[in-house]
Amino acid sequence: MQSNEYYEPIIGLEVHCQLLTESKAFCSCSTKFGGEPNSNVCPICLGMPGVLPVLNKEVVEFTIKMGLATHCEISPKSIFARKNYFYPDLPKGYQISQYEEPICSNGFVEIEFEDGKKKKIGITRIHMEEDAGKSIHDLDIDTLVDVNRCGVPLIEIVSEPDIRSPHEAYLYLYKIRQIVTYLGICDGNMEEGSLRCDANVSVRKRGESKFGTKTEVKNMNSFRFVEKALEYEIERQIALLGDGQKVVQETLLWDANQDIAVPMRSKEEAHDYRYFPEPDLVAVAVNQDWINNAKASLPEFPSERRDRYIREYKLPKYDADVLTTEKALADYFEGVVSSLNKKNEETYKLASNWTMTDVLRVVKDRHIEISDFPVPPRNLSEMISLIVDGTISGKIAKDVFEEMLATNDSPKAIVEKKSLVQVSDEGAIEKVVDEILSKNKEQVEKYRSGKNQVFGFFVGETMKAMKGKANPRIVNEILRRKLDSI
Ligand code: ADP
Ligand code: ZN
Ligand code: MG
Repeated sequence: MQSNEYYEPIIGLEVHCQLLTESKAFCSCSTKFGGEPNSNVCPICLGMPGVLPVLNKEVVEFTIKMGLATHCEISPKSIFARKNYFYPDLPKGYQISQYEEPICSNGFVEIEFEDGKKKKIGITRIHMEEDAGKSIHDLDIDTLVDVNRCGVPLIEIVSEPDIRSPHEAYLYLYKIRQIVTYLGICDGNMEEGSLRCDANVSVRKRGESKFGTKTEVKNMNSFRFVEKALEYEIERQIALLGDGQKVVQETLLWDANQDIAVPMRSKEEAHDYRYFPEPDLVAVAVNQDWINNAKASLPEFPSERRDRYIREYKLPKYDADVLTTEKALADYFEGVVSSLNKKNEETYKLASNWTMTDVLRVVKDRHIEISDFPVPPRNLSEMISLIVDGTISGKIAKDVFEEMLATNDSPKAIVEKKSLVQVSDEGAIEKVVDEILSKNKEQVEKYRSGKNQVFGFFVGETMKAMKGKANPRIVNEILRRKLDSI
């Protein structure tokens, strides 16, 4: 009953993205993930007395790019603030963030539904901040603290309460992930925590204009969990209200093992962060030149790219969607296309099919990134040329593909080495077909009595006899001719 005819959910998301800068936000320590605990630290990110932070320029550049990509206003002057709280993984006792004058505000992203309908979700603000460290509780020894992550730059993207269902929340988060990965400012990995999402949710009676009391759900480290947690929480709130009770404003943690959200803290004990302007940093001034440069460096975004694939390569919308979900995949596909020696609708579609199915399958099976896929685009392209000029069949191509994966050899070399060249010699094929037909009189009888599906049997037998090397088009032609004239 996640929303029903009486109640409507209201959702606003706060998304944190870890920026892919080499060094931290205010010192020169490395941001590398997975290092020896407490190895990437210095007096600045440890918050020793007397040290001074210096802002990493790239953090500002990345944030401006995100602001532009989400149609935000970029503030010519923004300031940092201290957000004070005490926690073991925060040695300084405060986080440098932005509060009153964030760098980006009043933007939107457009989410797209499966049926093609679109909806704008407002972006209230995007601000820069630093990450805290990590407490590690699940050890027998004790609670341990790793402060490598202290000072790693983040942006926080705060949405307007414009989201109306868990599915819309999913689509919004998906879009944000797509944008940051296309921009190359964040790797978008939710499991590793480089993309994190807190969801604010309330419900109200349909037709009412006032929002209800919200709760905040944290700790959802996958897209599926965000949807599930929201469904859970909406249902809980509707049940409360239906029962004449009130929703208490509180923070909940999603427990993925039990599929429930458990209270973490309520408003009464909520933090008072005692924000005040960061005295150790000057205001950030962004001039028009800077904005113009960032604008000029923006990539082609997924929806533009998808539309171009449909227009330029005449691909079906489905293909164009799949190919552009990830920038690395789209880049790979374009690598294949650019080295095709014949460029036409047929070869574009082949490039699309091989990328979408075979390349993606291997990437998934091997749990690797597209960028680590071993076959370079030009080799896949060469293989497509061999299919198109009739040197190999589509079926043989599957073997060539496997061999490319195993050896890194070029398709031409593989075809030669393994003598995989397709047989298009009609005489040779006809000889085999005659044998098959005389060996399978019963099946021929079936075909003649109208059971057309046995045709596939003959194709299969012929191919088998010729070790898959016969040109399927010619096999088909000869079989039709012979069977229909018997
Ligand atoms: P807080 O003061 O608790 O931080 P904000 O007004 O800053 O709340 O909003 C934080 C997030 O919560 C934003 O993403 C906003 O869209 C969302 N939000 C605000 N009010 C509601 C509400 N009543 N129901 C659902 N989401 C809300
Ligand atoms: Zn440091
Ligand atoms: Mg707030």
